[in-house]
Amino acid sequence: MFGVWAPNEDVAKLAYFGLYALQHRGQESAGIAVSDGSRIVVHKEMGLVAQVFDEPALTALRGHIAVGHCRYSTTGASVWANAQPPFRSTGTISLALGHNGNLINTRELAALLDGRGPGSTGIAATSDTDVLTALFVSDPAVTSRGGLPGGSGGMESPRGLAGSSPLASTVETAAATVLPLAKGAYSLVFMDEQTLYAARDPHGFRPLVLGRLDTGWVVASETAALDIVGARFVREIEPGELVSIDGRGVRSRTFAAPKPSGCLFEYVYLARPDTTISGRGVHATRVAVGKRLAAEHPADADLVIPVPESGTPAAIGFAEASGIPFGQGLVKNSYVGRTFIQPSQTIRERGIKLKLNPLRDAIAGRRLVVVDDTIVRGTTQRALVAMLREAGAREVHVRVAAPPVRWPCFYGIDFATRAELIAGHLTPEEICASIGADTLGYVSLAGLIEATTLPEDRLCRACFDGRYPVPVGEDDRGKHVLDGLGVGS
Ligand code: SF4
Repeated sequence: MFGVWAPNEDVAKLAYFGLYALQHRGQESAGIAVSDGSRIVVHKEMGLVAQVFDEPALTALRGHIAVGHCRYSTTGASVWANAQPPFRSTGTISLALGHNGNLINTRELAALLDGRGPGSTGIAATSDTDVLTALFVSDPAVTSRGGLPGGSGGMESPRGLAGSSPLASTVETAAATVLPLAKGAYSLVFMDEQTLYAARDPHGFRPLVLGRLDTGWVVASETAALDIVGARFVREIEPGELVSIDGRGVRSRTFAAPKPSGCLFEYVYLARPDTTISGRGVHATRVAVGKRLAAEHPADADLVIPVPESGTPAAIGFAEASGIPFGQGLVKNSYVGRTFIQPSQTIRERGIKLKLNPLRDAIAGRRLVVVDDTIVRGTTQRALVAMLREAGAREVHVRVAAPPVRWPCFYGIDFATRAELIAGHLTPEEICASIGADTLGYVSLAGLIEATTLPEDRLCRACFDGRYPVPVGEDDRGKHVLDGLGVGS
């Protein structure tokens, strides 16, 4: 997710490159909305960022504000109608909104809309994000706003460049009502015709950072996306904070008391290694986890190999701490998407074989330590261990840079149900047998938390210990909570 406010820049191209840097966070659909101060234009499609946009599509997106998104579906199917950013307009004010995270009270919020929610506009959306956008534009602060001369957006200040716009106070008032209603994980980047906004839920489950361009501002899910567009890191958007960005600069307000519980899994898997979260580099954290893993689960072996690429930093740490040489034993096809992030099991299973190929010369006759970032369903590791044995490995010792994932995530990672999580119903010994490894070792939860250098009580770790910072009702679990409620189609 990426937002930019910059009058002297080609904001669509900046958003495109920002999304390119964030492609790992969602590979199902991509979209960019741009405003020139009076009109928002949205282009979105199913597919990767590079498939959705070409030069003519980006050239058509003219303006000085942009919001971009690449989607990984957690509520609502992976279909065009749910691609982001959703766009809603009342005729006097329009909104395009990008959302990273997952709401856990989507049904309750949809009920508040009383028929004005997903599906009511003829768009068959079934996502939490569309519900949130619909709530914004149906808030009394927005609906009571009359039309102003000069266009749908009401342009008292030409193109909204000189100062804050009256639309902004309308949206900020609506945000003060709507955001506290939403429960769960939401890092948001959104815009009306004249102002860019960013907000983060009180727990700050998902990261969101603010960056500075020479003549503008950027908001992004990860610091790596700031780097790629040449923006300097300014600070994180705080949990419970709403910021508005326009010609007057950045205004901040707190809409809810912060109760920080950032996602521990960002450090394990989701974030790029060149990203920094809460002042701690993700790569350095993963190397530290590998060292800890070597201390907790030593192995007698000839070579440490990573499962590329997210297992690489922990494998480096394991090799450093154990003294066992580090080497490459698997080659990854970088153009194949992440395995568990894709929507169906069929694609997942095919994905593994497309993704990794063993280096036989490096592996044959050797006792291997194979370091992976995590084990979710066990599908990848089973195929991997078989592949390494077929390539001649003498022993395969699997080491995992995360504790067993025993509980589903409801805050933006689609681990699905507990039954699908291999550690939800098998012990580590049983998992070792199930994947066919000689030995298996997971880093401890305490070891992982220590590597982040953050206090335990500032992190969500529910997928490891089942202690959810925001409780989730049985009826609010699952990806398709709005399907079958008469919304969408
Ligand atoms: S449950 Fe796990 S993946 Fe989900 S937010 Fe918490 S730590 Fe992150």
